[in-house]
Amino acid sequence: MIGELDARIPEGPLADKWDNHRFHEKLVAPANRRRFDVIVVGTGLAGAAAAATLGELGYRVKVFTFHDSPRRAHSIAAQGGINAAKNYKNDGDSIDRLFYDTIKGGDYRSREANVYRLAQISVEIIDQCVAQGVPFAREYGGLLDTRSFGGAQVSRTFYARGQTGQQLLLGAYQALERQVHLGTVEMHPRVELLDVVLKDGRAAGIVTRDLVTGEMRSHSAHAVVLATGGYGNAFYLSTNAKNSNVTAIWRAHRRGALMANPCFTQIHPTCIPASDDFQSKLTLMSESLRNDGRIWVPKQMDDPRSPDQIPESERDYFLERRYPAFGNLVPRDVASRAAKREVDSGRGVGPLKNGVYLDFSDAAGRLGHDSIEERYGNLFQMYDRITGEDPYTVPMRIYPAVHYTMGGLWVDYNLMSNVPGLYVLGEANFSDHGANRLGASALMQGLADGYFVLPNTITDYLAGLLGDPPVPTSDPAFAAVESEVDERVRALLAVNGSRTVDWFHRELGKVLWDNCGMERSADSLKKALGEIPPLRAEFHADVRVLGENETFNQSLEKAGRVADFLEFSELMCLDALHREESCGGHFRVEHQTEEGEALRDDDNFSYVAAWEFTGVDEKPALHKELLDFEAVELAQRSYK
Ligand SMILES: Cc1cc2nc3c(=O)[nH]c(=O)nc-3n(C[C@H](O)[C@H](O)[C@H](O)COP(=O)(O)OP(=O)(O)OC[C@H]3O[C@@H](n4cnc5c(N)ncnc54)[C@H](O)[C@@H]3O)c2cc1C
Repeated sequence: MIGELDARIPEGPLADKWDNHRFHEKLVAPANRRRFDVIVVGTGLAGAAAAATLGELGYRVKVFTFHDSPRRAHSIAAQGGINAAKNYKNDGDSIDRLFYDTIKGGDYRSREANVYRLAQISVEIIDQCVAQGVPFAREYGGLLDTRSFGGAQVSRTFYARGQTGQQLLLGAYQALERQVHLGTVEMHPRVELLDVVLKDGRAAGIVTRDLVTGEMRSHSAHAVVLATGGYGNAFYLSTNAKNSNVTAIWRAHRRGALMANPCFTQIHPTCIPASDDFQSKLTLMSESLRNDGRIWVPKQMDDPRSPDQIPESERDYFLERRYPAFGNLVPRDVASRAAKREVDSGRGVGPLKNGVYLDFSDAAGRLGHDSIEERYGNLFQMYDRITGEDPYTVPMRIYPAVHYTMGGLWVDYNLMSNVPGLYVLGEANFSDHGANRLGASALMQGLADGYFVLPNTITDYLAGLLGDPPVPTSDPAFAAVESEVDERVRALLAVNGSRTVDWFHRELGKVLWDNCGMERSADSLKKALGEIPPLRAEFHADVRVLGENETFNQSLEKAGRVADFLEFSELMCLDALHREESCGGHFRVEHQTEEGEALRDDDNFSYVAAWEFTGVDEKPALHKELLDFEAVELAQRSYK
């Protein structure tokens, strides 16, 4: 351990910190804002919200995305909803309760001040999105409707059918395009960030590759904002969009930004089970389905009967049995482990015996087919298309899969990394979710970061640069990074080996899932750490990247991303090995309660682990941010 990190948490009572902070920070006057350039990488909810808001405020913004349209960002896939402490249902919700649920849900490994701010801002997000015209579901009387998500006993999740992310992203996208039209935002689609440029220790800009022409270019600005999403695809199979990757934050890490809690991965309990070894993608079935669906397995091992032939008395509704207070809506980490245990014990269902049932027959009887269709119609249709089974008549089969990454670049209260001028938003930062994210809180965090936090905090940094032009791209700092990037790309093309990029990615995914997945142990992690470096070496010696740089070349794009996954995943395993406790999604088999729940070690691990890059094949240096809890008392999580 080489240093203790200062998150620059404002003074004062928890509920006043955000207000106090905004009052004490330096501002940039409206007439001066057009003198500042800001680069935003990513047009998901976090990036689009940030860029649109900064543009609206009058800054000169340049936005980058590797997609052909900002609307294609992975955020569009979000199904279930977004949390907010509006208490429209009058069922006991409040900012304090959302704060508490989130801290507890994250197994007490998140920063209190950030989570409290998130709960405060949650209510403003809904107002902002409604004003944009986001068509949230409404009740008969016109009030916005809500439903329940895991880890909460109130109903605080706002939704737009099973397409909440899409509708929210369309809202942010419209706001963004308005700024493009007004000339405050310059949009760069189909352009990929391949490196970050620092000058005198500060973020000065980025180096990109045009995905259509292969052209390398430097872009400079007063500040750089990364909103580049999560890295769940390190596991190859995940619910993430196929393009999601770690490159932007890994490249920033290699330039000095600390990587925090990289081993905190979320496994989502309700995904469609894999159907064969060659599958390249897993599909999520939204957590909202657990509002009405009941999860069960046959009590008998290897039961050959179809579900309709298994009487009630021979079914085990294992979540309702083990966690009566929260039932099927226990948090994701708890539900996933419970499902795995049932499958491992031989009670799995389906052709490969790799699933558990999610059954809507009770709800259909109680509410009727039409209500179920109204709530979940598009999800049922998706399931039917993928499996060929009709969930209105046959229970869905589900199994846990990699879904979200709580780890990411370390940021302070202002969302600035340890590199001055480099900000990180949304899933790309190490986030407010501790060791386990509660459902419907990623959209909340991404939009809080983009619409409300960054626009208020970036001023403190920019104000100090008033009158200074951005570092010109003619500066040798840019030339040096450009030539490194160029060399990296050419080296990948030059290998001309015998195996595809996908082959290496799949192999890496297997190593990670088997050894650093839902369960980890010192032995399994050491095994992974022994296997990843030779796989990486083999990649650089034997990968076959087809085509050239100067054309549209998806094989080359993937190769760069997999090369970065091969470096990053070693850090993920190292972090998991060093954290000798279980918390949230990080389940070390050596550390569990008698009932098989995660067993934390607060005395020794109540900190954020932030790693400093010291070289490939070198041991990274550990920095710690100690977590102080003033408002909540640390306790063993219980959902009974
Ligand atoms: C299937 C699914 C359903 C989900 N449902 C919900 C839900 O109901 N509620 C909820 O709260 N959360 C949900 N989540 C999680 C949530 O969707 C994500 O955490 C969130 O949308 C991430 O937003 P983001 O803006 O941080 O990143 P993303 O939406 O992933 O956007 C990343 C952006 O960065 C760009 N980018 C990345 N790298 C580069 C690069 N090197 N160069 C240029 N551009 C780059 C991409 O082009 C993209 O525009 C779900 C996740 C999945 C997978």
